[in-house]
Amino acid sequence: MRDELYFDYNASTPIDELVLEEALAWMRGGHGNASSPHPEGVRAAGAIQQARERVATGLNAKASEIFFTSGGTESNNWALQGSARGLRSGHIVSTAIEHKSVLSTLKELERQGIECSLVAPDSSGAVRAEDIASALRKDTLLVSVMAANNETGVLQPVEAIAALCRSRGVRFHVDAVAALGKHELDVGAIGCDLLSLSSHKLYSPKGSGVLFVRDGTALQPLIFGCGQQGGMRGGTENTAGAVAFGRAFERLREGAFGSPAKFVGLREQLFGRLKEKFPGLERNGSGPCLSNTLNVAFPGADAPQLVASLGARGFSVSAGAAASCGTMSHVLAAMGISERRARASLRLSLGAHSTLAGITKLAEALEASLPVSQIAHSR
Ligand code: PMP
Repeated sequence: MRDELYFDYNASTPIDELVLEEALAWMRGGHGNASSPHPEGVRAAGAIQQARERVATGLNAKASEIFFTSGGTESNNWALQGSARGLRSGHIVSTAIEHKSVLSTLKELERQGIECSLVAPDSSGAVRAEDIASALRKDTLLVSVMAANNETGVLQPVEAIAALCRSRGVRFHVDAVAALGKHELDVGAIGCDLLSLSSHKLYSPKGSGVLFVRDGTALQPLIFGCGQQGGMRGGTENTAGAVAFGRAFERLREGAFGSPAKFVGLREQLFGRLKEKFPGLERNGSGPCLSNTLNVAFPGADAPQLVASLGARGFSVSAGAAASCGTMSHVLAAMGISERRARASLRLSLGAHSTLAGITKLAEALEASLPVSQIAHSR
């Protein structure tokens, strides 16, 4: 019941039962430090290596290319800072719709002397590979573009951008945190050099992530320590977190988290029902999109108020990224959407426990929270 009222899978996902079981077993009985040469240490190191292999299989990567981190934020920081460490000049191309963990890191790198160009999306919410090409300079050292946007779900042309980067000899990083579990992620097919992931978007506990580093990519460490993970990422490994992430990749392969066809079906039913009730409803973003994400504006509504009134009825929905703290969405702004419309927009994201009954309840609750007359008057 509580699960079917949850519409914020893009912010975080519930932990899968089988993932939890495996993680708990390691939290209870897996106390060895993976760097220790004794039996418990060797056992932990073996479990981490198995998890690495499971993640690698899921991404079509080699196990040697998978590094465990504390989450998507660290992976993005590492990809960007590790590419620019020690440089006092140089240029990075990224987009205006990236997650704040990329945008804030770029701001910090600018203080260090690196110049950054942020490419804007078109009104569909996608950036164009041609615009990335136009932004490249002789001194561009890195391009960083997300696979899918976490607010609108709009897919970005990362394969085309990867081909462009390869032809120009420029390193390419993909933030695939939002796409994970909802869109095929094959690092061979994408052709990127670096790719960030976060475990809590894939039915696993928070505080664990991955950075894929293609063999041959010279990346400096972000965190220095005792030589863990081949000297690339210091710090005692989070055995239970890594094991959980590896198991979640297996569960994804088994189809445990629902199919894109199921989500598209549910999402379009939800959109259809909302459109019936609120004819002024406007969809933010168009074109190829994550199957589970619907970003819609209820003209005249106040999204934070709507989030609160739906919350009082037991529903979890979002007025943008989870950590946006009520500020205007930089993603919708970059798409040319007015502040008024952005402030009336909700992000509804579906996942493993979403049901048709839940969607019906949400449509009814929205109607009760937001009388049609209020919307009609404001148009
Ligand atoms: N990138 C994107 C696209 C995200 O949606 C998020 C999480 N909201 C992150 C990075 C950060 O991941 P984490 O929460 O694991 O730090």
